[in-house]
Amino acid sequence: MITSLIDQRSEKNIQTLVPEAQQVFRDFLIALNENFMTLEINAVVICGTRTYAEQDVLYAKGRTIKGKIVTNARGGYSYHNFGIAIDIGLFKYGKYLDDHPKLYEQIGIIVRKFPELEWGGDWKSPCDPPHVQYRTFCTMAELRERVAKKQEIV
Ligand SMILES: [Zn+2]
Repeated sequence: MITSLIDQRSEKNIQTLVPEAQQVFRDFLIALNENFMTLEINAVVICGTRTYAEQDVLYAKGRTIKGKIVTNARGGYSYHNFGIAIDIGLFKYGKYLDDHPKLYEQIGIIVRKFPELEWGGDWKSPCDPPHVQYRTFCTMAELRERVAKKQEIV
């Protein structure tokens, strides 16, 4: 198995996810990094699970606290809150590539090889190309209920 395609930061963030979802995200990241290899670009998992409280802080940005709006989701309204979503950052020689839509479209192409996953770039509002999540057949309300009842998410 090629493990070097998963850097430490990515592995640490993948380990914040629900155990059943971790391996498919590892396999996805390996496929994504193989795809970017000739361009010398590294795909890194820059975010995994966020608690409801962490999500509320993000939601406050640009609203009740300083900064630009970064999310439309309050605590309990993001797939990151359920341990089934990641955000990918693309880096070239260590430099973060934050405004390269064509490169981020590659994420969607690789996601399509994994039927368990769905891509935030396919959404209309907000379109979220760095975002990849595990497909569940639950509504967000059902996921919140599962959390409240300490039931399994996937
Ligand atoms: Zn995300």
